[in-house]
Order: sequence, then C-alpha cells, then structure tokens
Amino acid sequence: MKMKKLYIAESTHDAHITQDLLKQRGHETEMRDANLASTFGQIPLKAVKTTLWVTEELYADAKKALTEIKSTPEKEYKPWNCHRCGESIEGNLLECWNCSAEKFAHSHK
Ligand SMILES: [Zn+2]
Repeated sequence: MKMKKLYIAESTHDAHITQDLLKQRGHETEMRDANLASTFGQIPLKAVKTTLWVTEELYADAKKALTEIKSTPEKEYKPWNCHRCGESIEGNLLECWNCSAEKFAHSHK
C-alpha cells in the first residue's frame, strides 16, 4: 500500500495528540520517527520531526480532518460540559460519553 505523508508534527507530543484526534475521526495514521524520515533526504538530524502518514487513497479525507483539527483553537480541547445532560467531558472527545450529544451541535461559529 502506497503511503503519503500527511503531517509534520511540531513535536512528538503534538504527533501523538494529532494521531489520537485523527483516530477519533476514523482516520488511521502511521507515525514515523525522525530516524526513518531522515533516510528520505538530506535532513539535518536536529531539524527532523515526527511525521504522520496515511495510505494514498485515504489521504484526501484525512487531510480534511487534519485541517479541521488544526483550525480548532487549543482551548476547544479543554474539558467541556454537555449541553444536554450536563456531564463533564474530556476536551478531546467530540461527543458526550453519557448521552452522545455532539460537542459542537449547539454552537456554530
Ligand atoms: Zn450528555
């Protein structure tokens, strides 16, 4: 399966968060670390970053999801309260674990 590079992370931490958020949206990605990436070109080691890859056929959808994720301000990932049942929900969840209400259902920006 041919893979395409989807995202170059700011840090390993960022790579993990981004991979998690993509996974929640149904996009499986493969994380490749600095050493693997460096075999593709003349990249100085200190400049090499963690990258996320997806299969070519899933690239367009995953890229769209990534754009959504990255255009969401950091504060959106703070814990939130469900507008329907009032439960406190972890910031990275997009729907209430208790009643399945969608996080953004009531607030269109
Ligand atoms: Zn709820």
